[in-house]
Amino acid sequence: MNAQKYILSPDAINFPVGDRVAIYHRQLGGLCFLDGEANGILGQFSRATEIAAHVLEGEDISRREELIQQLVLRQLLVPVERMDAGPEYAPVPQNKVNIIQLILTNACNFGCTYCFEGVQGVELPREDVVEQYKKIDISRLASPNEIKVNINESIYASEERIAHQYDPKNRLMKPKDAVAYVDKALEIAKSTGVTEVMLQFFGGEPLLNWKAIKAVLDTYGNGAAHGIVINYSTVTNGSLISEEVAETFARNKVAVCVSFDSPKSTSRPLKNGGDSAPVVMEGLRMLQKHQNRVAINAALTSDTWDEFDNSIVDLAYEYGSREIGVVVDFDPTFYSKFGAPAIVEKLWGVIEYGRGRGVVLTGYWHQIFQVLLGFDAVSHRGFKNCSAKGAQLSIEPNGSVFSCKAGSGLYGNVLQGPELLATEIYRQHASLRRQNPAFCGGCEIEGFCAGLCLGPLEKKFGDVASVEPSACDMYRGITRKLIEAVAPYEVATFDLAPN
Ligand code: SF4
Ligand code: SF4
Repeated sequence: MNAQKYILSPDAINFPVGDRVAIYHRQLGGLCFLDGEANGILGQFSRATEIAAHVLEGEDISRREELIQQLVLRQLLVPVERMDAGPEYAPVPQNKVNIIQLILTNACNFGCTYCFEGVQGVELPREDVVEQYKKIDISRLASPNEIKVNINESIYASEERIAHQYDPKNRLMKPKDAVAYVDKALEIAKSTGVTEVMLQFFGGEPLLNWKAIKAVLDTYGNGAAHGIVINYSTVTNGSLISEEVAETFARNKVAVCVSFDSPKSTSRPLKNGGDSAPVVMEGLRMLQKHQNRVAINAALTSDTWDEFDNSIVDLAYEYGSREIGVVVDFDPTFYSKFGAPAIVEKLWGVIEYGRGRGVVLTGYWHQIFQVLLGFDAVSHRGFKNCSAKGAQLSIEPNGSVFSCKAGSGLYGNVLQGPELLATEIYRQHASLRRQNPAFCGGCEIEGFCAGLCLGPLEKKFGDVASVEPSACDMYRGITRKLIEAVAPYEVATFDLAPN
């Protein structure tokens, strides 16, 4: 190898953090810190500068040369002739499905004001509930009136999607269907070369269909007998956790995300208007007793703005949960109403308080930062932060497969097997694994952020390959905050100044 001239990549993003400089590649990630001396060396490459062959090969090099080698490996320094060519990635797989979302029921016993199920959700027929939950106070589940569906008020973008949501024949997944669907979904996942999947029990309120959940857990367990590792999770409102549920989830290592919001919230009433909090607390206590892995799911939205505060951290702590997943509103008007700085500040305040109590706040917005910490993580994981971009099958009770419960892209029926992945609509979603629309070109988090959730995008633009700019400053702002809070021992830190 001969000496070559290198220059600072136009994709390098750097800014001061304390007495160091944080630097990463805006497409590939690889966050690291440089002290003043190391940053001075980086600065020399603002003009084309020769690097000796032995440095690139890493043979017998000094600490200064080691830094240069690392900057080259991270593509922060690039050969002059490649300066405008963009980064070199590992190939991202064309097909890769590693998340299976089972929609066990399109019904809920809560009436959350912001949920896609929520105010427009309808009830299960009483008989179904009575049969499965004899011990539950049925009055909690009675909805006064079925609300008429209005496409203008739904998050969904197509009549077809809405029809699935309210079709009485698509209300409840039969246990034998759930098992058959998982069988096919695993076949599809395996056909893409994955050896491990995340299987999510989702709804509506998934625990309204305990029989189907149990059938899947009993049949597939950890997946060993089926040649694949299966991890499980569920998102539940927590009101239907019984001893049996908690014990079965603990035994099968099902991560339980309990939606709660805030101890003060009024956005999560029971359908009969009553307060949901005491019922959910009871569920949390049961999960704690069985030492389940629990995350509290909270929403920071226009509806919950006033109540979203440190009390959610205290609640998580009290019930032994060390993680809170925060869904930040997917409605574009939320960002124009409150403004990115105020949203970032509000979220950050609770994040900091959580850190003090050993409770981590995560979510869609946090995944941007996590992907940025790795190097070229998208090539390996197959998506940025939105798994609906080809990494996931969301299976309805009737077997229809959508991109996500929040999305309107219908791939077909799961029983079609791997041929689903050849459909135009799947290919369209999967093409967005790495590639964002042109609007994102040059953004400092382009390589890690997939933009706003598909639901509102499809609704507003009728196209998954679009960008809603109103949320961008919030995503960039919170990512900066998270980078600024990284301790130097948590990522590669190049300190060249003599101690
Ligand atoms: S959606 Fe916005 S924040 Fe995300 S990469 Fe695109 S421009 Fe950047
Ligand atoms: S479509 Fe929305 S809810 Fe679904 S994975 Fe993407 S961001 Fe998450």
